[in-house]
Amino acid sequence: MSRLDLHLHSTHSDGSLSPADVVGLAGKAGVTALAITDHDIMTGIPDAIATAQPLGIEVIPGVEISSQHGESEVHILGYFVDWHDVAFNARLGTLRESRHRRNPLIIDRLQGLGIDITYEEVCAMAGTDAVGRPHIARILMDKRVVTSAKDAFDRFLAQGRPAYVPRELPNPIEAIQWIKAAKGLAVLAHPTWVKTSEGTLTDLVRQLKATGLDGVEVHYSTHTARQTREYLSLAKQVDLLVTGGSDFHGVTKPDIEVGIGKGTLHVPDTLLPKLKDAAARL
Ligand code: AMP
Ligand code: ZN
Ligand code: FE
Ligand code: FE
Repeated sequence: MSRLDLHLHSTHSDGSLSPADVVGLAGKAGVTALAITDHDIMTGIPDAIATAQPLGIEVIPGVEISSQHGESEVHILGYFVDWHDVAFNARLGTLRESRHRRNPLIIDRLQGLGIDITYEEVCAMAGTDAVGRPHIARILMDKRVVTSAKDAFDRFLAQGRPAYVPRELPNPIEAIQWIKAAKGLAVLAHPTWVKTSEGTLTDLVRQLKATGLDGVEVHYSTHTARQTREYLSLAKQVDLLVTGGSDFHGVTKPDIEVGIGKGTLHVPDTLLPKLKDAAARL
């Protein structure tokens, strides 16, 4: 059964598998086109393309940018982005710098809680410039301070927990504009995570569409059948493209598999021509 997976993380950000290994799993899952959407970095794309080409799998250059809207993080996916775009890469660089400003403050908090951890060992394990909380979670797992990444987030790293430190984030409109300026399609990721305080999700999505949003991630590993129907109708109502993906990360989200999410994810490959048409019109 032909399927897409347009939301995948690799070792170039906070995933635990290389782009080549992610592509290999995608091939086994019957994925015909995929997007590596690492956080704030696009250096994984060439390896993904090199591995995918002989397998007959298409690679769409992708990226995921976290933004802040009120109390809620709003993640924006970029597709078909010109990953050589100098201005866009400079933006991504500043986002990675904001990670390096926040992460040592998280480490200070963990040390204050009596945990033996240094930022040097987190960076060494990450092996990339896009260092995230899941890397910190993995060190805590290795040291048996926590039993899983979920345990690390629930006890220490999630908003409201004792080692949580916010990061300076752009607003969703800025994230969308950066992606559009680099000839990419901008897509609202996992709408189930968006917490709207004033107005509804539909209001927010309409606002974002007015500033350039192209699509919404209707199909997602943790969306229920009902949510998928709701977001599909939202996409129709606001006239947005439909995308979908697993948000595979490897060891920090062990219940999510490439292509099939928690087992029931199916992103139809019939969505791809519409995305390509829209990208060609940018
Ligand atoms: P950061 O980008 O460093 O702020 O870390 C946020 C990332 O952590 C998200 O993009 C998710 O990939 C991951 N994450 C958030 N909550 C959890 C959780 N409960 N378990 C595992 N990973 C999580
Ligand atoms: Zn992540
Ligand atoms: Fe996300
Ligand atoms: Fe993601």
